[in-house]
Amino acid sequence: MGFGYTIRCKSCTYCFGAMLGTGMLYSSAMAYRECDEDGQPIICVSVKDKSIRKKVSDILDDNTCTEEYYEDLYICPKCMRFANGFYFKLNTSSGEYIPEYRCEECETVLKRIKEVNSEKDNDGDRHLSFKYRNGRKVRWKCPECGCDKMTTDTMIMWD
Ligand SMILES: [Zn+2]
Ligand SMILES: [Zn+2]
Repeated sequence: MGFGYTIRCKSCTYCFGAMLGTGMLYSSAMAYRECDEDGQPIICVSVKDKSIRKKVSDILDDNTCTEEYYEDLYICPKCMRFANGFYFKLNTSSGEYIPEYRCEECETVLKRIKEVNSEKDNDGDRHLSFKYRNGRKVRWKCPECGCDKMTTDTMIMWD
């Protein structure tokens, strides 16, 4: 079971649907090996970047698989655009392999978000801040218009 919510800018039309967690689809072996109806392991469906999929098929064997994989929330540290990404980790002879995703807009390497917080100000407007995995805290601004007020829809569950 995973969950999601929609983040909307209060001033313009920018909105983003965040999807997090592990859906029902991702039973352990399915992530890397077993196929869905279209004959592809989940990793091929969830990871759009061809170079990452190539890398995975090159290094994947029984020793490299880990149980760590889930839909995670990423953000571009440059333009503040959110992105959903399939996080996973493979153990290779030369260390860990963790995919690197890039911003669709500006090509900057995306950072994973650890924590999202929203605070209400005195006018009742919400402001979003988040923490990177390295602990750094950042206030969010709309990538389209620079507004820092936002709304979020109620959390939805997905499977
Ligand atoms: Zn905006
Ligand atoms: Zn960007």
